[in-house]
Amino acid sequence: MTVLDAARPLDVLADFPAIPEGWAYLDTAATSQKPQAVVDAITRGYAETYATVHRGVYQRSADMTLAYEAARRRVASFIGGAEDEVVFVRGATEAINLVAHCWGGTQLKAGDRILLSALEHHSNIVPWQMVAERVGAAIDVVPLTADHRIDLDAMAAMLTPAHKLVGLAQVSNVLGSVLDAKRAAALAHGVGAKILIDGCQAVPRTPVDVVDLDCDFYVFSAHKLYGPTGLGVLWGRAELLDAMPPYQGGGSMIDRVTFTKTTYAPAPTRFEAGTPHIVGALGLHAAIDYVEGIGLDRIHAHETALVRQAREALSAINSVRLFGPEDSAGIVSFAVEGVHPHDIGTILDEAKVAIRAGHHCAQPLMEMLGVDATARASFGVYNGPADVEALAKGIERVTRIFG
Ligand code: PMP
Repeated sequence: MTVLDAARPLDVLADFPAIPEGWAYLDTAATSQKPQAVVDAITRGYAETYATVHRGVYQRSADMTLAYEAARRRVASFIGGAEDEVVFVRGATEAINLVAHCWGGTQLKAGDRILLSALEHHSNIVPWQMVAERVGAAIDVVPLTADHRIDLDAMAAMLTPAHKLVGLAQVSNVLGSVLDAKRAAALAHGVGAKILIDGCQAVPRTPVDVVDLDCDFYVFSAHKLYGPTGLGVLWGRAELLDAMPPYQGGGSMIDRVTFTKTTYAPAPTRFEAGTPHIVGALGLHAAIDYVEGIGLDRIHAHETALVRQAREALSAINSVRLFGPEDSAGIVSFAVEGVHPHDIGTILDEAKVAIRAGHHCAQPLMEMLGVDATARASFGVYNGPADVEALAKGIERVTRIFG
């Protein structure tokens, strides 16, 4: 791993084997590239230490179980909270579905209200709609401020005792706007509501402490945190998880099974039916070691500087419209007048700049912004000023091509 000097800007590109020289990978908000340390942890897991967990009476399996549970402890030390409050799931999407189904399905009733924001990812909208429809609850939507942040003053005015759940993204995957999650949690608790924070875009780019935030549920996906796909984390307060029924039935999640009655294991095991993504957990462990080795404060400063540079360069181009606040975290959405974002993406690809173009799984936000789609550049630890220059040059070419 690259040796770091805290005073110097990040220079860790060499840690990422899948980024060839001269390729500006600006789609980290969709999924991050993997450092060699994560690739090695996964390779070792399959090539050297592989066995199942939780069942083996042989040494290899006992060792793998220790490694799997060490990953759970590592997650807890990374985001705060206790290890028994960390549930391994397939991703943030599954984590939110689990909470909506198991918590929402038992705690919400007809007449209750759920509060979401206008910038949520579909995965923090649709599961709530599904449970709301089932139990007869209603959904309210917190608007955004003029500079595209979740409007917490508006939220304070909207909240009523009928609101039982608030679900908000800590960092928007489209706009990069950063939520004051601590204030949001205090507001939710003020009316007796629980709050779920979608931390997908926050954990890779800001320090997170769920205890300090005082939230009730926190979710993220490993693949956006330089870890493997197919693994995510649901963190939930112990007393909430303990009171929740299982999500799926199967092996591992039980205490005792008979044909007359089955009893369930305590949390978090109760929510992990079937053989888990064992090696994925080892990869996540290595990913957390990797980002903490750099330091989340440094990563945040690094990406904020790149965003500043990108916004400055793009706003100097006449036909560019920028979305999101000035101080967005690691993510810049924009439009070029008269050019579809997909065309922007294709032309940039020819210049070896990879961005995302589309609705970013946030169609209600697109509607609010009055667009079908945006172009989005998102940064990671491996990006540098040269990537921003390549982006700006590419956009200038787009404007030339489209006259
Ligand atoms: N929430 C946010 C803010 C996201 O950016 C994403 C991924 N784009 C998700 C939820 C869903 O994550 P996953 O697809 O990994 O389950």
